[in-house]
Amino acid sequence: MYVIDPPKQASLAVQGSEARFPIRRIFCVGRNYEAHAREMGKDPTREAPFFFTKPADAALDTPCTIPYPLLTENLHYEIELIIAIGKGGVRIAEADVMDHVWGASVGLDMTRRDLQTEAKDMGRPWDWGKAFDDSAPIAPIKPLADVPSVETGRIWLAVNGKVQQDADLSDLIWSVREHVSILSHAMVLAPGDVIMTGTPAGVGAVVTGDVITGGVEGIGELEVTIGARA
Ligand code: MN
Repeated sequence: MYVIDPPKQASLAVQGSEARFPIRRIFCVGRNYEAHAREMGKDPTREAPFFFTKPADAALDTPCTIPYPLLTENLHYEIELIIAIGKGGVRIAEADVMDHVWGASVGLDMTRRDLQTEAKDMGRPWDWGKAFDDSAPIAPIKPLADVPSVETGRIWLAVNGKVQQDADLSDLIWSVREHVSILSHAMVLAPGDVIMTGTPAGVGAVVTGDVITGGVEGIGELEVTIGARA
């Protein structure tokens, strides 16, 4: 019994299935490709990975149209490999990480870059730059048994057909096994947790009417259109 109707369970489509993947939390890895760390003005030496979060209901299925978000004048795309956790755990060893992974996909860590930059400059939290409505469009999850690799494979993004991000999963500073293990030493991971694993170089702005396409080789592709301002 609830005093108001409970919120709808956030979820994502699954490749080849009518059943959906329920989302508990969304964790995001910051600066996980060297060239992207450099373009953001940071030293890409192998400092410990850091994380931020988005609300579960920031996720939405693709293809989709997302409204141009409130409050920003500089909306950026970030194409990312997505990891979906099927079995929870704490202090997971690197060698055991894949036993906890249900599947993988490709998604966008949409970013209100002006608000994120202001937050960095002022020593404030990143939430307003990262954790806004509709900020995590994600392609249907591919079950792990059908995923060729989360360690190698092209990751790319194009805006209106022009390629802007083009890298390989092997460029990840912290691999999936490494960063999921590290994350599990900070949070007790649970089924339904989703991890956005960081973006390669080439981030940039999009405006109303732009069409973003992107993918990870062997895992999936997405298409997202930027709609009118919310
Ligand atoms: Mn990101």
